[in-house]
This record gives sequence, structure tokens and C-alpha cells, in this order.
Amino acid sequence: MESILVLTHADESGSALTKASLETVTAGMELASRLRAELTIGIVSANATTSQDSLASTGARLLAVSGEVFAQPRYSTDAAACDALCRASAATIVLTPSSSRFARVAAGVAHRLNGLIDTHVTAIGGTDTIEATRWFYRQRVEAVLTRDARPWFLLLDAGTHAAFASAPGKAQVEQVTVELPTIRTTVSGIRAPKLDEQTIRPDAKLLFVTGAGWTKKQPDGQIHVSEAAGLILGFLRHTGASLGSSKSLVDQGGEGNSVLPFLTHLNQVGQTGATPRHPKGLATCCHGEEPHVVGWRFIGERRAISLDPNCGWTRGKADVVYVADAFQVIANVNELLAARVK
Ligand SMILES: Cc1cc2nc3c(=O)[nH]c(=O)nc-3n(C[C@H](O)[C@H](O)[C@H](O)COP(=O)(O)OP(=O)(O)OC[C@H]3O[C@@H](n4cnc5c(N)ncnc54)[C@H](O)[C@@H]3O)c2cc1C
Repeated sequence: MESILVLTHADESGSALTKASLETVTAGMELASRLRAELTIGIVSANATTSQDSLASTGARLLAVSGEVFAQPRYSTDAAACDALCRASAATIVLTPSSSRFARVAAGVAHRLNGLIDTHVTAIGGTDTIEATRWFYRQRVEAVLTRDARPWFLLLDAGTHAAFASAPGKAQVEQVTVELPTIRTTVSGIRAPKLDEQTIRPDAKLLFVTGAGWTKKQPDGQIHVSEAAGLILGFLRHTGASLGSSKSLVDQGGEGNSVLPFLTHLNQVGQTGATPRHPKGLATCCHGEEPHVVGWRFIGERRAISLDPNCGWTRGKADVVYVADAFQVIANVNELLAARVK
């Protein structure tokens, strides 16, 4: 009989669980009910009270590691916390969100417990056995894995399950004591780009992709890069969309030539870039070539604006293609969005 542990952690507020943690709770509940297995949820946070109440209706056993020392992500304390939760639950299957906080400690914890780990898991199936699905070779080959080794750690990719949500209730939580290692790392503060400089937003409903066309000569024979920058940033500001790019456009920023200064290779979508997950995507001034579109595998509804009626998008890769000038379309859309806000 399997025993399932879902590891969760708090967000920056210190008391609410992250969305990725709540998605992992959903995956754990589905798996436990399918296997008729025992479910435990482990919480790592400074103060577990609010998070534990949000999990009251799961019916799971709740274990918590709490205290100021767990407020900040830090390898030594997070690994010790996860290790203690795994031992307290005696879990054979451990599900964790693939957050930067847990992704960096999960392999180490699996090793400490003599277990095995698989990462980038997108689905967990099977009724008698556990079948973990993940993609290989830049999302081109989908594999289904089973393992006999226990404990088996599965790191779940964000956006693959609905986040668990229910009215808070009163939950009983068991505090787990952690033997803390010597702490050599202290967090003195966080340096992060300003919110409007942060263009990669994994939780956004829309992915807005920019292509090299934004920097090419336009029908008037001129290039309009600063106008393009204003339109793109205006659209992002109005919609809260996440910014993706084709490789051709981000490559132009190499060799010290900053064409659109807010774009880096981290924005690149495709075979040699990222494969983000968003319900909708809108490509602009992008040709829709296969090495780019392969990164759209997990985009629910695809639309594109291109001047070229024969571009890759119109050849069956997008649900809707507007054969139009993206400068004009986005300027109009931005005006409409600005008027809506007033
Ligand atoms: C091994 C390999 C890996 C690769 N990996 C990636 C990858 O990860 N990601 C990636 O993106 N590419 C990748 N590529 C490159 C990819 O094949 C394409 O070259 C690239 O995606 C093209 O970028 P683009 O569509 O922005 O530019 P272009 O092909 O130059 O297309 C620009 C488009 O903009 C349109 N346009 C111009 N002005 C306007 C306007 N005013 N309004 C509307 N449309 C306009 C044009 O009609 C044109 O269709 C890879 C290639 C190789 C060989």
C-alpha cells in the first residue's frame, strides 16, 4: 500500500501556500483517491496557521514545519524540513511542486532517504501502478515512467493541475521537529527587478510573443524600433501578459546591440528556448516556424498577427490568424484597453 506525501511551502507572505503547492495538493488528492492510499500534506512555512486551514477539507493528515527560520528559502533549512516531513510521514511517494525553492532541495532529500527522483512530471496516471508522464527532447517525446524504488519523488511542473481551492475550515496539524544544521547562509534582502521590468509572468493568462518583424523595415521603408518598444510595453502594461519572443528577435540583442532592451534569451520560446504554459497566446510579427512553434505546445488557444498570408501560422499552426499590420493592430488594441481602464 502506497503512502503519499505532498510537500508544500508558503509564498512570500509567509502564511498562504503558493499556487504551485496547491496544484500539487490537487495531484496528490487525485492520486490518493485512485490508489485508495493514505494522503499526508507537509507544510513548510514561518507560520502554518493560515495555510493549514486552507487545507482543512482535503481530509489529509497535515504535518507542519514552522518557524522564522523557514520564512526564507535556504538549501540547508529547506532540505532539513523536507527530510523531517518525509520521515514523519513514512511516505513511499512524495509529490513536490517544481518551484525554485523545492526544485533545488528535492534531489538532495531523495538521496538522503535513499530514494529516487523524477523531475518535470506533467501527469500522474495508473490505477494499480503509478505512471508518471514527462516530456523529453524539448517536448517532442512523451514518456510514461514507472519505478519500483521507494521513496519515489515526483517534481510536478507548474500549470499541469488545477490549484486546490475550498473554503477554509479548522484543521488539526501535527508539528514536526527539525534538527537544524549549522546555518551558514543568512538572507539579508531580496534584489529583484521592478515589477514592470519583470516581463516573464508564468501565471499570466496570455503569452504575448514578439517576432523579428517588429525591428524590420516597414511599408514606409523605415524601421520603427522605439515605436515598437512603446507598443509592446503598453500592451504588457494593460494586459499583464507574459512576454515571449522568437529567437531571431532576441538574437539581435547579442554582441552588445540592445535592440529591444527588455528582451533577453530568457524570453525566447521554442526548441532552444522555453515551453511556457498559458491558456492563450498571441504572436506578433513572427513567422511561426516549426523551431519556434514547438515551444507553443502547452498554449491553449493560439492567435497570430502577421503581414505574411503564407506564414507558418496560417499553415495550420494557429487557431486564428489576422493578416494585418501589428503596429496598427496593437496601437488600436492599446487605445481600447486604455479607454476601458478610465
Ligand atoms: C536548431 C534551431 C533551433 C531553433 N530554435 C528556435 C527557438 O527556440 N525559438 C525560435 O523562435 N526560433 C528558433 N529557431 C529559429 C527559427 O527557425 C526562426 O528562424 C525564427 O523563429 C524566426 O523568427 P521570426 O519569425 O521572429 O522572424 P522572421 O522569420 O524574420 O519573421 C518575421 C515576420 O514578421 C512579419 N512582419 C514584419 N512586419 C510586420 C508587421 N508590421 N505586422 C505583422 N507582421 C509583420 C513578417 O511578415 C515575417 O513573417 C531555431 C532554428 C534552428 C535551426
